[in-house]
Amino acid sequence: MKMLSLFGATGSIGDSTLKLVDEHSDRFSVSVMTAHSNYEKLAQLALKYQPSLVVIADSQYEAALATCLRGTSIQVASGVDALCEAARMPVDCVVAGIVGFAGLMPVRAAVEAGQTIALANKETLVAAGHLIMPLAAVSGATLLPVDSEHNAIAQCLVGARDEDIDKIVLTASGGPFRALSRAEMHHATKEQALLHPNWSMGQKITIDSATMMNKGLELIEAAWLFGLGSNRLEALIHPQSIIHGLVSYCDGSWLAHMGPADMRVPLSYALGHPDRLAWQAEPLDLAQIARLDFQPVCLEQFPCFGMAKSIIGTDPADAVTLNAANEMAVHHFLSGEIPFGEIAEQVDTILSEKRLGSANSFDDILALDQEVRKSARSAV
Ligand code: NDP
Repeated sequence: MKMLSLFGATGSIGDSTLKLVDEHSDRFSVSVMTAHSNYEKLAQLALKYQPSLVVIADSQYEAALATCLRGTSIQVASGVDALCEAARMPVDCVVAGIVGFAGLMPVRAAVEAGQTIALANKETLVAAGHLIMPLAAVSGATLLPVDSEHNAIAQCLVGARDEDIDKIVLTASGGPFRALSRAEMHHATKEQALLHPNWSMGQKITIDSATMMNKGLELIEAAWLFGLGSNRLEALIHPQSIIHGLVSYCDGSWLAHMGPADMRVPLSYALGHPDRLAWQAEPLDLAQIARLDFQPVCLEQFPCFGMAKSIIGTDPADAVTLNAANEMAVHHFLSGEIPFGEIAEQVDTILSEKRLGSANSFDDILALDQEVRKSARSAV
């Protein structure tokens, strides 16, 4: 029996994880579940999965959550410190499924505690890869990538020696606006931007997929996970989302990972690790799929991708700035304050301005993130 803590239990990664738990209730139990504000869903999940602890990040919902769970032995807590404390509770695997920068401090706590972490929250490594990776090396924490592309690469790298790797290629579906020019997508509606062709995910990552900022963030994440510079990291648009990642080796061999576009594939790899976890995955009918297409990412069409790629290897403060500016711009778009096309413009403006702080420590990163958000707010 493996004990899990599930951060972001009420989200899309939470849903996919719990479907696997349902299929393997004899192999997994959940000891911690967390959410931000959706206390009703968190309470329902807690009643079903009986964790020992639930944490709601926004403290104003703690009392309501406690009321829902009255009469049970489930402990209720709230706030960021409680999330971090929960991340330190020893379990077999911490599933990091919180969205955005908010996921950083719980992951940091889990890394410090030497846990095995199924890492979906890419923003952690984008904003603090330079601190998290050395911390994991010291604490002995294991980071198992759950982002499907990174999970694909990790599988293609099993048994690889660093010196034999030529480059890594992440694939991208191209999102809903793959066939549109920048001008055509400028006034795209929220509904259009949220209509991802292949994946069903939370709102923030779905908008990031439409701007292709997501693929840029993933290149930054890959740089930290696999220790490669930007000259050895590429992305290719592959509309069918069947191949998720490729590794080219020095002898001309390429290894590619294929699978259905279902987050249970990478999650099952991480949860089962080091074993393979059997589940009722949709079979991949290659004869039916018949063809696999690839095209380069156009930087004029998707400037967010270029901005993110250009800061790999620069001062880590750039990545904190890019991440916070992007989170704010996506928020402004989703709340109807700016058109879709302005997401890239807002991020570009903030990234080109004077640097608002440094990223030498976690405290620096938290402060810089706040400064960038303040600046982004005042710009709208
Ligand atoms: P969702 O929006 O579906 O879920 C987000 C989860 O995080 C919810 O449980 C939410 O709680 C919680 N949350 C939101 N804000 C905070 C906060 N401030 N403090 C604590 N918890 C918070 O996101 P996804 O599941 O789509 O994505 C989660 C992460 O996984 C992202 O980093 C994403 O990039 C990554 N990822 C996701 C994939 C997917 O298929 N969904 C694929 C690859 C990577 P509440 O419900 O209460 O708001």
